[in-house]
This record gives sequence, structure tokens and C-alpha cells, in this order.
Amino acid sequence: RIAYVNGRYVEGRHAMVHIDDRGYTFSDGVYEVCEVFRGALIDEQRHYDRLARSLRELRIDPPVGQGALEFILREVLSRNKVSNGFVYLQATRGVSPRDHAFPQTPVRASLIVTARSVDPKKGETAALKGISVVSTPDLRWKRVDIKTISLLPNVLARQAAKESGAYEAWLIDADGMVTEGAASNAWIVDRSGTIITREADQSILRGITRTALVEIIAAQGLRLEERKFSLTEAFGAREAFITGATTLVTPVVMIDGRPIGEGLPGPIAQKLRAVFHEHAARSH
Ligand code: PLP
Repeated sequence: RIAYVNGRYVEGRHAMVHIDDRGYTFSDGVYEVCEVFRGALIDEQRHYDRLARSLRELRIDPPVGQGALEFILREVLSRNKVSNGFVYLQATRGVSPRDHAFPQTPVRASLIVTARSVDPKKGETAALKGISVVSTPDLRWKRVDIKTISLLPNVLARQAAKESGAYEAWLIDADGMVTEGAASNAWIVDRSGTIITREADQSILRGITRTALVEIIAAQGLRLEERKFSLTEAFGAREAFITGATTLVTPVVMIDGRPIGEGLPGPIAQKLRAVFHEHAARSH
């Protein structure tokens, strides 16, 4: 397994970062996960744009330009022979003795890139059966629109889901409204067939898959409302599903042990999953 670490391609066991890297001490960094499908990076430009925004919001200078990044991602994919899977990149504020305030003398941001193959059949099996989710309070900070590596509440939520036999956790805000999943965006379909997902403000991450799906929904002539929905509304929904680079469109069949609709993957979620696959195949 080959990783890119600050300018070098190194064997995984030698891929190390400094103990004073601010990603390590403060979670002071951002990341992206991009899906790779048949050798192509899906919605690649949108990932660069979101990365640039995350860095800007945290006032971290980009470690490399977009051209270099495009090259590095391809190099890591080819050196690891990944044609279906993911590429992960992480950029931090760099190495500096531990002090909360930014380094006084500017340091170069750190950049690491890794890649992993995933058998596409695995996701298909989960999508055919549908997944279960559990609700849990959203304990995160108020700027989760920034894709930071500071993921402790997400980690705890995913672990809670796993321990109760569910695949994903849906995070619930102080008003009882669903924000999103621990690592995905949350969607429901109401009794009239309208698709609902929370508006992308500072309380959710604007998923790249979410953005692509909003366009797909319009192109399909389906109705979409970007608004908050409660857990109670989700219990009564006809369908539910999640989106993300690692899950694409995956139907949700159970929330907190209650079946959603017929308790089977719904037709709209299945249709959207299929159309998203066509969208991914067009990235070549
Ligand atoms: N929301 C959160 C909290 C996430 O961590 C992710 C992805 O990891 C998403 C949503 C989905 O985003 P994307 O579609 O860009 O993968």
C-alpha cells in the first residue's frame, strides 16, 4: 500500500506524520473522500471546490495547487492499482509546537493521500436489502459545513449505530429535527412522493453526492423540498435513504427499529440509485 506524504510516495508502514502536526494535536485540518468508479474520479471538480472552501473557512493555505493535486490523486490510485474504491486526502495546518493559536511563522500545510479498493458488489448487497439507522443526538459544533477531520461525535454516533446492529446513525438537533447521518446525508420521501432533505446551511455537510442527486432529481422531473424534517416525520415517511461517496444512494428500511413504508427499499430510492450509477459512469 503506497501513500503520498508531504511530497513523497512511501510504503504504508513508513508513511508517518510528525507528532507536532496540528492535525494530530488539534484535529486542525480538513479532508475529502472521492469515489473512484472504473478508474475515474466521480465529481472530481466538486471535491476540489469543496476542499478549497473548507481550507478558506479555516484560513489554511492550500498545500499544493489543483493541478498538482490532480496528478497526486492519479498517482496514488495507479500505484495502488485502484480502479473501484476511494481516494482519501487530508490537509492540515502543518507542523508546529503545540499552541492553540496559528503558528506565528507560517508553516506549510501538510498533505497526505491514500487510496483503497472496494468490491462494488458489497455496496450492492447492502442497497438491495436496505439498511437500518438509529437516531442519536447531534453533539457536533456549529460549523459542520466545513469538512474537518474533527469527527469525534461522528465516531461515537457510528459506534452507537454499530452496537445496536444498525449501519448508520441519524443525528437529531435540539428541535427534534434530523440533521444528517454520521457520514452521509439523510433523505425521506413523503406520502405524496415528494423527496425531502435538509437545506444545506451550516448544520450539515453539503455532500457531493447530495449536490449531484439534487440535479438528478430535477432532471427526472421528481419533486424535491430542501427543508428540515423531524424524526417523527421520518417514521411516517413512505421511503428513506442516505447519500455519500462511500454509500452512493442507499435505501433505509428501518429507523430506531420501526419499518419505514413497507420495510423494503423504496422505488424512488432504487430509481435514484440506478440513475446515480449512470451519472458516475458518465464521469469517464
Ligand atoms: N455528511 C457527513 C457528516 C459526511 O461525513 C459525509 C461524507 O463523508 C456526507 C454527509 C456525504 O458527503 P459526500 O456525498 O460528499 O460523500
